[in-house]
Amino acid sequence: MKCPVCGTVYRPLKGSGESLSVSTASSSPSCRRCKADLSDLFRLHDQAVWYHKQALHLLTQGSYSEATEYNNRALALYYSNADFHALAGKLSALQGEFREAISSWQQALKFDPQNAIACHCLQAIELMAKSD
Ligand SMILES: [Zn+2]
Repeated sequence: MKCPVCGTVYRPLKGSGESLSVSTASSSPSCRRCKADLSDLFRLHDQAVWYHKQALHLLTQGSYSEATEYNNRALALYYSNADFHALAGKLSALQGEFREAISSWQQALKFDPQNAIACHCLQAIELMAKSD
């Protein structure tokens, strides 16, 4: 996610309760560089993550089309999150939409070239294509 004012890029911190590497010492989160108020942006981000978590939960229940719906809402709020695209790809693949799956995973790798799910799934599909 980017500060809309000065363009500083913030990445979600992995594996910690704090979602972003922005100073939250003050009551509302603000940009480290330009001090713009980022609380609306954070709310959108939190909402997107919530939709994504719902999608993951629905996926484990086998409700793929509902999971896709929730994940699409997450993507609508926060398009540059590689994990959302990776999940979109997985959901497409589970529903037999391999062309869409591949384009979602490629999108995920565009935003995060190290994205493990997207890398792994694309390699698996390439192997499948070769063995045909
Ligand atoms: Zn800024």
